[in-house]
Amino acid sequence: MQPDNRLYQYFAKKWLRKYLPSATLPAHTLDCPECGSRTALPKLRQGQKAICSVCGHHLVHIEPEPYVTVLACALAALILMVVVYSLPFVNVEMTGMFSPLTLSGMFHALLVDSWGFLAAVLLTFVFGLPLLFLLLAIYVYAYFLFKQEFSPTLRNSMRLLLRVQQWMMVDVFFISMLVAYIKIQSVAAVNFGVAFWLMPFLVILILRTSVAISPHWLYSKIQHADQIPFFQAGEETVCCSRCLHFRPKNEVFCRVCDSELFHRRPGSLKMSFLLLLAAMILYVPANLLPIMISENPLNKEISTIMSGIIFMWNDGDKLIASIIFSASIAVPTLKILSMLWLLFSARFKPLLSIKALSLQYRITEAIGRWSMIDIFVIIIMMTTFHSKVARVTPGPAAIYFCLVVVLTMLSAHFFDVRLLWDKTVHKFVETD
Ligand SMILES: [Zn+2]
Ligand SMILES: [Zn+2]
Repeated sequence: MQPDNRLYQYFAKKWLRKYLPSATLPAHTLDCPECGSRTALPKLRQGQKAICSVCGHHLVHIEPEPYVTVLACALAALILMVVVYSLPFVNVEMTGMFSPLTLSGMFHALLVDSWGFLAAVLLTFVFGLPLLFLLLAIYVYAYFLFKQEFSPTLRNSMRLLLRVQQWMMVDVFFISMLVAYIKIQSVAAVNFGVAFWLMPFLVILILRTSVAISPHWLYSKIQHADQIPFFQAGEETVCCSRCLHFRPKNEVFCRVCDSELFHRRPGSLKMSFLLLLAAMILYVPANLLPIMISENPLNKEISTIMSGIIFMWNDGDKLIASIIFSASIAVPTLKILSMLWLLFSARFKPLLSIKALSLQYRITEAIGRWSMIDIFVIIIMMTTFHSKVARVTPGPAAIYFCLVVVLTMLSAHFFDVRLLWDKTVHKFVETD
C-alpha cells in the first residue's frame, strides 16, 4: 500500500497539478439572471454549485473534474459522431427491395429530391450545430487547460458555444427515429444497424458535455486572463445577464462576454410578442396545408397534421398518433397560449403567483424544441420511401411548421422573465 500511495502522491503533485489546475471561483456577488435578486456567493471549489434561494435557478457550478469531464465527453462524442453518421443506420425491406440508410445518405436524399429547406433543417439542428458545439467545447477547454493567456478568438468561441448549445436537436431526432420506425414496422421489415444502437450513447455524451459547461465560471477565467478590472455590485454597475459579472452602467457591450449590457432586456415584451404573433399566423397554414403526401401504385394520400393523426388513430397506430398529436398539436398550441399568458402577466397583471409563472416559463422554454419530432419523422419517412413502389413527400406545411417551432423558441428566448419578478418587488413596495 505504501509505495502505491507514494506513487499516487507523486503523480498528484507533479503531473495532475501541472496539467489539471485546480478550479475555484472566489467569493463574489451576482444578480440571478432569472429573478434578478442579488446573491452573495462564498468561495466555490470543484464539485460545488450555487442555486438562487429565491427562484431556484442554477447560478453556477464547478464540476469535480471540470477540464477532464468536458474534454473527455466532447472528444468521445466527436469520435462517436463520425461513426454514427457514416455507418448504416437502418435497413428497410419492403416487397423484396432493400433500402439501407445512413444519416448522411438521408441528407443526400433530401437534396436530390429538391427539399433543400428540410436538408438545411437536418444539417443545422442534427449535424452542424452539435459538431460545432463539440469542436468549440474542445477548443475552449483545451485552451484554458494548456494556455492561460487571453486571445480574442477565445471570447468569440465562448459566445458561439453558449448560443449553439440551446439549438442542438440530436436527442429530439433520436426519439423521432423511434417513432418513425415503429410506424414503418407495420408495413415493412426494419433492421437496425450499428449506428442506431450507438446513437443513444452519442446523445448522452453530448448532453453530458453540455451540462458540464459552466458559463459563469468560464467567463470568470476570461476576465482573469484578459485582466479586465473587477467591479463590485452597486448603483453605478449592472450585472450582465450572460456572464453575470458587474460592469459599469455606461458600457454598451459587456467587456467580459461581449454581449449587450442591460438591466432588463430592452423591448423584451414587444419582441417576444411580435415573434409569437408571426408564429400564430404561420400556425394557420401549417395546419391547413398538406404536411405529407404518401403514394403507392394503388392510391395517393394527402394528409394535413390533423388528418394524418386521425388516419393513424383509426389505422390502429394509437401510440404513434398520440405522440404526433402531443408534438404537433398539443405542444405548439400550449406553448403559444402559455407565452400569451406570460406576456399578459408581465405587461399587465400576474395571472398566477410569480413562482408558478416562473415554473411555467421554464417548462415552456424546455418543451419547445420537441415539436420538431413531426418534421424529423417526415424526413425519415421520406428518405426511407422514395421508390416508385412507395413514396413519401413532404407538403408545404412542413416549412411553415418548422418556422412556427423556431419562432416560438425565439419568442421564449427574448422574454425577460425578470419582468415578472419585478412585479413582486413593486407589489411589495406598494403594500408596505
Ligand atoms: Zn433567482
Ligand atoms: Zn457579460
